[in-house]
Amino acid sequence: MKELRYLKHYPQSVQAQVRHLIEHDGLKKYLLKKYPNPHAMRSDKSLFSYTSDLKNIYLKKAAPLSKVLYDGKINIIHNALGTHHFISRVQGGKLKAKNEIRIASMFKNIPEQFLEMIVVHELAHFKEKEHSKAFYKLCNHMQENYHQVEFDLRVYLTYRDMFGKMQEWAREK
Ligand SMILES: [Zn+2]
Repeated sequence: MKELRYLKHYPQSVQAQVRHLIEHDGLKKYLLKKYPNPHAMRSDKSLFSYTSDLKNIYLKKAAPLSKVLYDGKINIIHNALGTHHFISRVQGGKLKAKNEIRIASMFKNIPEQFLEMIVVHELAHFKEKEHSKAFYKLCNHMQENYHQVEFDLRVYLTYRDMFGKMQEWAREK
């Protein structure tokens, strides 16, 4: 079996468990049992309010969000799961910082916990630039099982690489 590229930072023993599931047709069952349904944030508008709500709870003091949108051009293989930008624009002589988050369009069809994890990750970068201890501490504060959900999302990306998208999570078929 080829390398599990989304899971290569996990211990060998964990990767072996995933390989075992793959070999015994258990990957889909593992995912659907824990995450039976897709989220409902299908439009950029609903994604924006979902993200704002999380930001207002945990990162009230960070600069306001200017844009949150799904982006069909994000390549999740080379990039992270989403992207975040701090854009500085000169407006009427003043420099304004804008917070923008783009999330890969393929994440329209995933369970809410996965979307939450991605949004939490990108929001946390507004405060912590690097993937430091402080960064992951903040992620865990915003989503208590952050690490488990990130692992499961990576399991899904592995599944998707091998078998295509999860039909059970597709709203339009
Ligand atoms: Zn990151």
